[in-house]
Amino acid sequence: MKTIRFLLAGAALLASQAAFADLKIVTTTADLASITRAIGGSKASVSSLITGARDPHRLEAKPSFMSRISGASLFIAVGLGLEVGYERAILSGSANRRVAIGAAGNLHVGDYCYILEKPAGSVSRAMGDIHPEGNPHVWLDPYNGRLIAKAIEERMSSLDPGNAKAYQQNLESFLDRLDSAMFGKAAVGRHGAQRLWEWSNAGTLAGKSDVGGWAAQMAPLSGKAIITYHRSWSYLARRFGLKVVEELEPKPGLEPTPGHLAEVVKVGSQQGAKLILQEPYFSRRSSDFVAGRIGASVVVAPLSVGHDPAAKDYIGLFDTIIAKLKAAS
Ligand SMILES: [Zn+2]
Repeated sequence: MKTIRFLLAGAALLASQAAFADLKIVTTTADLASITRAIGGSKASVSSLITGARDPHRLEAKPSFMSRISGASLFIAVGLGLEVGYERAILSGSANRRVAIGAAGNLHVGDYCYILEKPAGSVSRAMGDIHPEGNPHVWLDPYNGRLIAKAIEERMSSLDPGNAKAYQQNLESFLDRLDSAMFGKAAVGRHGAQRLWEWSNAGTLAGKSDVGGWAAQMAPLSGKAIITYHRSWSYLARRFGLKVVEELEPKPGLEPTPGHLAEVVKVGSQQGAKLILQEPYFSRRSSDFVAGRIGASVVVAPLSVGHDPAAKDYIGLFDTIIAKLKAAS
């Protein structure tokens, strides 16, 4: 009798655990995991392949990734070529057809974002490690963060319709938090998020004195010339009006050379660049060299959730980047 009761209790426990995490989701980056967790709440278990301060372009196709993906119902990547070096290998190694490229369990959020720097002509290796589908660092504009969150919610709801209502509610509250962080709660209440984003997209937000949040914090930096290391920051720069005048990489993915750095020094001083923004996984040597020549500050900022202890989630990522930019300017 005791054994039976024990078995029944065990079965009930298993059933309740399954109910707690109906969807098992694996994402490539920690940013996607953070957004997905916000939407999934207690209904989904979410983990990312990349943790810590790793370059999202470069990841080894480890067997442990394949076994984690083998049990997933949904695999979420940025797409646009960011994971091109390893996605196919880990998906085929996982032998999980539900998440194969093109299947319902495979989502590339880049397909739902607005895209910058899509090359017009044909792409050759001579152009460097360039992404033929456009710049994949889409998540660094919170506007794309909204589009990403909606795409994830829709896919989760279609794979798990029983929890669709919860996913939709969680999406609404995530968007509300994101909009309030971007513009301030009061401005969102007064104008509505849609109109604020329209003004931001049109570049007419500057005239609205009641706007708070990241938009207000970044307003003094609008129009300022900056230098970046890799072309990671285009979306952030576009959203907040920063002018990227040079990059330390001579071509995307190639290490800085003395000749190119001399050119960066020239352009940087002509344009009055006072900030050099770099990713945490590169050496500071080139940034410090240029900064010393032109009297600029180096800002090492997280590109992703987890790159910096303060960047705990997607909203915290922008809080951290913006605080670092403000402190250096
Ligand atoms: Zn890149």
